[in-house]
Amino acid sequence: MAPEAVNALLPYLTDSGTFANAASGQHLYGQNAAAAVENARSAMAHGLQCNPKDILFTSGATESNNLAISGITSGHPNRSKHIVTSAYEHKSVLDCCRHLESQGIKVTYLRPDNAGVLALDSILNALTDETVLVSLMHVNNETGVMQDIGRIADILEAKGIPFHVDAAQSAGKVPIDLSALPISLLSLSAHKFHGPKGMGCLYVRNRKQAGLTPLLYGGGQEYGLRPGTLPTHQITGMAAAFTLACERLATDTEHCRQLRQTLRTALDKLDGVYWNGSQQAAVPHIVNISFAGVSADALLIALRDSIAMSTGSACNSGTIEPSHVLRAMGIKGDRLYGAVRLSFGRYTTTTDIGQAGLAICEAVSRLRKLAAE
Ligand SMILES: *Cc1c(COP(=O)(O)O)cnc(C)c1O
Repeated sequence: MAPEAVNALLPYLTDSGTFANAASGQHLYGQNAAAAVENARSAMAHGLQCNPKDILFTSGATESNNLAISGITSGHPNRSKHIVTSAYEHKSVLDCCRHLESQGIKVTYLRPDNAGVLALDSILNALTDETVLVSLMHVNNETGVMQDIGRIADILEAKGIPFHVDAAQSAGKVPIDLSALPISLLSLSAHKFHGPKGMGCLYVRNRKQAGLTPLLYGGGQEYGLRPGTLPTHQITGMAAAFTLACERLATDTEHCRQLRQTLRTALDKLDGVYWNGSQQAAVPHIVNISFAGVSADALLIALRDSIAMSTGSACNSGTIEPSHVLRAMGIKGDRLYGAVRLSFGRYTTTTDIGQAGLAICEAVSRLRKLAAE
């Protein structure tokens, strides 16, 4: 976490600060907690250029994605319903859609090209009279490839179809101006921008008309759409982290761009390196690479004590299945089974990347030599 976010969070945990329940409006302590929550809501809204009333606090992007997709679909009056999403979404979108399929809802899973880019035509062609929601991610968590959500939003707005965006990997890293983007719902997650884990929010445009059905029922918090005692410390921690990320966006982006270049220069010493996903459409902080003749498993084992590298997303680790994202892009063979993902951020140094680059080069060369023997 950003030290600034830790400092913002701590006073809400002890009796030297504001630990009261924000729903306890009958006393000053509760009112102070509620004021802190509303300040945080305004800070989130300011960073996204939306109305504070459009922000619902959740436990993270997994919950936000489920609330958006299930909530809009079950709240929709159509008798037969259809959702359009992609085959390279995060599991919290894919598994939610699979569940809805088991309830009789139709789902189309769009495929990108082999650089991970989705063609606008494919979205248009998938829409039917029954389409109640399109849900697409902004930046892919495994490849870093970014979709043109502005153009997609314009198309869907013209057709009157709600558009949900999973912005967990872009919020705080890529400018998002909701005053200029006709997006209906947007998910984000605090721990992706140096905030606390277990915290996120869902932006809902025109909440009263959106027809969102809650996942949970309870004490009426968050307009009854997300009941439960508000975690004041998590909320203030997320808002501090997001404010900082928005202020530092250009600086942090440039820092990551330089780190990516440093890694590229180091890995250019090897032959047979594939950079997966469109490098033009990619954000700088995520890289996905394969090394000809080297399996990801062997490489991860060789480097597990020094480099926090993974195959696919962290959420899928432990499974040996190759990445569903790269598969959706049509990537096969060595390149699929050898793909590893690295990400870096504000606190990663050039020295870190230099060392990682050297260690990867050495491990790849050693593994290739072994395979040749
Ligand atoms: C991390 C992530 C999520 C899940 O967010 P949590 O807050 O960890 O539940 C969803 N979508 C994408 C693209 C992510 O990177």
